[in-house]
Amino acid sequence: MDYDAVIVGGGHNGLVAAGYLARAGRSVLVLERRAEIGGAAVSFRAFGGVDVRLSRYSYLVSLLPRRIVADLGLNVRFQRRRMSSCTPVGDAGLLVDTADEARTAESFRTVTGSTKDFDAWRRFYALAGRVAAVTFDSLTEALPSRAELRARLGDDEPWETFFERPVGETLTTSFTDDTVRGVVLTDARTEWSEWWSAGTSWPTSRHARSRVCSARSPSRHPKVRS
Ligand SMILES: Cc1cc2nc3c(=O)[nH]c(=O)nc-3n(C[C@H](O)[C@H](O)[C@H](O)COP(=O)(O)OP(=O)(O)OC[C@H]3O[C@@H](n4cnc5c(N)ncnc54)[C@H](O)[C@@H]3O)c2cc1C
Repeated sequence: MDYDAVIVGGGHNGLVAAGYLARAGRSVLVLERRAEIGGAAVSFRAFGGVDVRLSRYSYLVSLLPRRIVADLGLNVRFQRRRMSSCTPVGDAGLLVDTADEARTAESFRTVTGSTKDFDAWRRFYALAGRVAAVTFDSLTEALPSRAELRARLGDDEPWETFFERPVGETLTTSFTDDTVRGVVLTDARTEWSEWWSAGTSWPTSRHARSRVCSARSPSRHPKVRS
């Protein structure tokens, strides 16, 4: 049988592409080598006898525009994660509570001994939020050129921080505490193993989308309706 399109790999990108092609009236064949579709975005029952499914790899939805959910009629419900992270340090922990800034600030003070890194944290994630707000729509439009994107940001600081400078440089110049640096690096390092390359802060803005772009992205943990 002939198909208009053959997609190799039934991860979420392949499935979305197949969904749009099918909606456009094209015949599509999706080839998936595993027994299940979903790629890195699948969940599984990790604990025998406990009916709870955990994400196998990809765990946070921050790049899925609502438009795609609506276009494809996806039957999926999202939940916001309030606790961004909790990193054990001695008897305490560095807690990032997205709903309680004072609690987060106090946690930083307890772990780092001052509010200096919390101030740097707020500044860094405010910049990440600005980058996310400006770049989010580019996910569903033609790829902008460097010059266009820079012009959209309209300011050198976010451009330099997220597209030119290595995340390693930002970590060492903006933050003083190694635990705080580690938490920021966790946000940035999902895709990068090299953190002294230009532009390696960029994924942090992707995570920041979870915080700033909820109007345009579900930005939460998925719960698929059965
Ligand atoms: C540990 C980890 C954590 C991550 N966390 C996040 C996160 O929190 N949020 C986020 O947005 N992104 C996260 N990502 C990135 C995200 O998982 C990927 O960007 C996303 O899965 C890419 O989707 P995809 O459909 O392109 O590819 P995949 O999800 O990798 O799917 C590819 C599919 O193709 C199949 N395939 C491959 N080769 C063949 C072949 N020759 N023939 C047939 N089938 C084939 C595979 O079996 C697989 O099902 C994470 C990635 C990793 C590894």
